[in-house]
Amino acid sequence: MLAGYAVHAEDSRGRRYPEPPHPYRDDFQRDRDRVIHARAFRRLEAKTQVFTRRYSDHFRNRLTHTIEVAQIARTVAAQLDLNVDLVEALALVHDVGHPPFGHAGEKALDAAMQRHGLFFDHNLHALRIVEDFESRYAAFRGLNLTFEVREGIIKHSRDYSAAQFPELAEYLLDQRPPLEAQLIDPADEIAYSTADLDDGYEARLLTLPRIREGVPVFDSFFRDAEREFPQAIEKLQFNEALKRMLDRFVGDFIINTQRQIGTAGVNSLQDVRAFPRRLAGFSEEVDRERGEAKEFLYQNLYLSPALESEKASAERVVTELFDFWMEQPESLPASYQEKAQQEPLARVVCDYIAGMTDNYIYQQYEKYCGESSGAALP
Ligand code: MG
Repeated sequence: MLAGYAVHAEDSRGRRYPEPPHPYRDDFQRDRDRVIHARAFRRLEAKTQVFTRRYSDHFRNRLTHTIEVAQIARTVAAQLDLNVDLVEALALVHDVGHPPFGHAGEKALDAAMQRHGLFFDHNLHALRIVEDFESRYAAFRGLNLTFEVREGIIKHSRDYSAAQFPELAEYLLDQRPPLEAQLIDPADEIAYSTADLDDGYEARLLTLPRIREGVPVFDSFFRDAEREFPQAIEKLQFNEALKRMLDRFVGDFIINTQRQIGTAGVNSLQDVRAFPRRLAGFSEEVDRERGEAKEFLYQNLYLSPALESEKASAERVVTELFDFWMEQPESLPASYQEKAQQEPLARVVCDYIAGMTDNYIYQQYEKYCGESSGAALP
């Protein structure tokens, strides 16, 4: 039973190219499945989230991170009587626009584009992937996703102004996205702020005393875990504390969003869209705790000297390859050379690089920039 303010599949604004209904899956279930079968989705497996493969094969990559976000988002959506299939489609697609090498790759790609008066934005890139680059169907380009999934790709984490992005006008930029899209970003935050503590601890870049000192909410759950399981090894006490922290964030997110929906008097999807702010979010108290965890991760993990050489290497590979193809576009694959007849070369080179996995870009670097990947690796 969906809430009145949920997105109902039968009310979808539909696809760019109309298609007959499927006998046993609705439009959002089909969109979710189209994302799963997309090449860009499979490539997430070989893209860095925070740690490269150098650390461990059981740390998160962008694919397993995506699956964790989908798990959290589904749980929240079900509790709020939202459309779980739409939420799952949006969670699974939320990171497909990310270039290789995590945040460092994105920064380097954007900096390279800025030198040509352009920019790189992973949400806009994700939209280009599902609209244009995915080539699976004889009847149309792209995945031909419903309006609601494309809108969610654009709006899940930020607002774009219609004045600055006239090409996005069809996505109702003056309105809030449906709650299904609003909950993706907080679910993403919950997923990575707990997972990165876990992987950082396992990588021995974060120590237990440092985490307990820097993340008070974790510390209080760790004290409970020690008291309840005094015989358990430290890692299992750690897991217990982390699980409870995740549960606290998810529970608060559900209850606070429910409360905000009630206070706002929102009863329909149109009310959600017309409301002046987004309604999905944490309480003040938990938002502060989440902020502390995030800040701790920035200071002690993302910006730590331990990951510095990896980031420098990522930056070098992206920047040098970008400049190489700008100077020698004849070395691009034929399909990209063709595209460069219609679009700025920098955009075409950017699209090519953004689609690459970590492995593939290292191969290309070795091939064209004359260094073995061993030299590029930290
Ligand atoms: Mg993410």
